Amino acid sequence: MLLITEATKEKGKVTIITNLQKITMNIHDKMEQWEQLDYLETKNKKIWRNLEYHIRKHKGEILLGPPRDTSDIKILEELEKTISKRGDQNEKKLKKKVIPIEYRIEGAEIRRLTQKTTYELILQEKNLKPGGEQTQKRIEDICKEHKRKTENRIISKDIWTGIKNKRIPFKVKDFIWKLIHNRHKVGDWFKKIPNWQDKAICECGEIETMNHILIECEKNKSRDIWQEAEKIWKENNKDFKWIRPNIEVIRGLGAIQLKEQNRIALE
Ligand SMILES: [Zn+2]
Repeated sequence: MLLITEATKEKGKVTIITNLQKITMNIHDKMEQWEQLDYLETKNKKIWRNLEYHIRKHKGEILLGPPRDTSDIKILEELEKTISKRGDQNEKKLKKKVIPIEYRIEGAEIRRLTQKTTYELILQEKNLKPGGEQTQKRIEDICKEHKRKTENRIISKDIWTGIKNKRIPFKVKDFIWKLIHNRHKVGDWFKKIPNWQDKAICECGEIETMNHILIECEKNKSRDIWQEAEKIWKENNKDFKWIRPNIEVIRGLGAIQLKEQNRIALE
């Protein structure tokens, strides 16, 4: 697995010949389904996810299959010999040699794994680097918008400790956490699933995003709900000014403070 992952890091067209039938079959037949299920029941999910990441990222074609003829078999055998002679310590050095690149690509049994255009999306949605750039950018936007909308200066720590607050129900915490990490399965997430692509579109015709669903959509009555919320707020909170939330304010919900009277607040 490790070697296959290493091979996918090579530039250009990569051909991987391996005797490991089970892994080959899993990559060809099961990986896509596992990925759609977010590797929920997959053994060694970390390793598979890593491999998937590199396959998606690879810009050229990747061909993977069993040896096609005696010369393929000979190459594999020789490499195996070399590895067992040198021992594990040299495994790193040998990685490149184990992988015959640009080597015998014909054959019906060697199926193709081509790069998918969804690579960017997957990176974004799966957030493969947890706390990575995308999340960091969202955190910055939350702080900026909180300052603008609530006159409340917050830093990233406030957002994280905020959502740990015991008074916030778990469901809400979970929802906010997913919002911050862009983990909700909406819109573009569906685009990479065969036959489900139409689920990416809201019934109003727009691409669904959490921002669209919560704030913008005219068809799902989200605007009516905010108007209703405003009414209820104004009836019950005479001392606190109502703020119409945007997606950043909602993402930073845990960091909102309701201390001072006659100042802006939102719950
Ligand atoms: Zn809509």
